[in-house]
Amino acid sequence: MKINIIGGGPAGMYFAILMKKADPAHEITVYERNGPDDTFGWGVVFSGKTLRNLRAADEESHAEITRAFAAWDNVDVVHRREKISIHGNSFSGIARLQLLKILQRRCERLGFQLLFRTEVLDLDSLKANCDLLVAADGVNSTARKQYSRQFLPRMDVRPNRYIWYGTNRLFHGLTLTFRENETGVFAAHSYKFNQTTSTFIIECDQETWSRADFATMSDDETREYLEKVFAPDLDGQSLLSNNSKWINFLLVKNDNWFFENVAMIGDALHTAHFSIGSGTKLALEDAIALFDCFGGTASVSAALRDFEKTRKPVIEEYQAAAFESMRWFENARDYMHLSPIELAFAVMTRSGKVDYEDLQRRDPAFIALYEKQKTVGSRQ
Ligand SMILES: Cc1cc2nc3c(=O)[nH]c(=O)nc-3n(C[C@H](O)[C@H](O)[C@H](O)COP(=O)(O)OP(=O)(O)OC[C@H]3O[C@@H](n4cnc5c(N)ncnc54)[C@H](O)[C@@H]3O)c2cc1C
Repeated sequence: MKINIIGGGPAGMYFAILMKKADPAHEITVYERNGPDDTFGWGVVFSGKTLRNLRAADEESHAEITRAFAAWDNVDVVHRREKISIHGNSFSGIARLQLLKILQRRCERLGFQLLFRTEVLDLDSLKANCDLLVAADGVNSTARKQYSRQFLPRMDVRPNRYIWYGTNRLFHGLTLTFRENETGVFAAHSYKFNQTTSTFIIECDQETWSRADFATMSDDETREYLEKVFAPDLDGQSLLSNNSKWINFLLVKNDNWFFENVAMIGDALHTAHFSIGSGTKLALEDAIALFDCFGGTASVSAALRDFEKTRKPVIEEYQAAAFESMRWFENARDYMHLSPIELAFAVMTRSGKVDYEDLQRRDPAFIALYEKQKTVGSRQ
């Protein structure tokens, strides 16, 4: 089969790897507009379950990915002067660039073409010249725009602003930090992803953003302002910019996932708010799901139909949980009156995917503390 793939991110490369591994006769070309060392952002985080899926799909890349991991089991919620740790969770972090490098090397070993610095503009001729065209071209997908009449995308620009920094302050756990100042509430999502660096994503609502007057600040002024807001948490370390800018989260859904011989996967097809840390996981698992659909048939249209039928409900469930989590952060100011332990409980249960019983199982000491302090609170 001749397969063209637009986008050498996690989704595009992983699908190429799985298909080539299964049948070396496939002629696969991946088109990537960036160079092999360009990337945005810092680290990404995976859950334990994702890792099991990656091991089953491709042991070789799984082994390299897990060797590069920083792993932890705690979520830390920081509010006012207190840090509450909730244990029994399973997460790992890896630098996005390192993940891409591992997948690039795997592609090279399997012997197919990754065409870097090659932007696809003419989709029609690429589509005409293959059996299968996979658009894995990310959240601002050209394919989704050019074929919008076929895919019927639904886009929702969310009100909160966020900015993705790194820092050399190491956060040993998925740390959610809330800080208030005269302009409003800021939330930071941070976690270590190698021996020296943590991801540090800051978000705030539109009102806070306008009051702080970020629109008139330079990139350096923005960074300095935010370093002051999070000074108690950064331990004197600075925030590291990677051309970091404020953005609004874009929620993407598509009514149709394929037409003729074209399918989308990953962020091009759907997004899930970063507060549930699932974007890369979903991108890689889309690649696995699409690959699996080619296991039972040689027909491209049957495989694409099967992909949409089986994968869509899974994604809808994730997006529903991610939506609740995103809404929680959009309304974070409504929770700031809670005590640290109550806020930690509210954070942990925000998406509806984790409840009291789950927390009791994962970390009985946390629930015991919650019960004790909640009771104290209600007696006062
Ligand atoms: C603030 C923030 C934090 C995040 N945190 C996490 C996290 O903790 N964990 C997690 O799992 N995910 C996280 N994500 C999400 C994650 O980055 C994405 O979900 C993931 O990268 C999606 O993979 P993808 O392969 O679909 O798309 P991408 O990684 O975006 O790859 C698409 C590729 O296509 C290329 N491309 C685009 N158009 C063209 C074209 N016309 N021609 C050629 N090439 C093209 C791009 O250069 C890019 O390399 C986060 C995202 C954000 C914004």
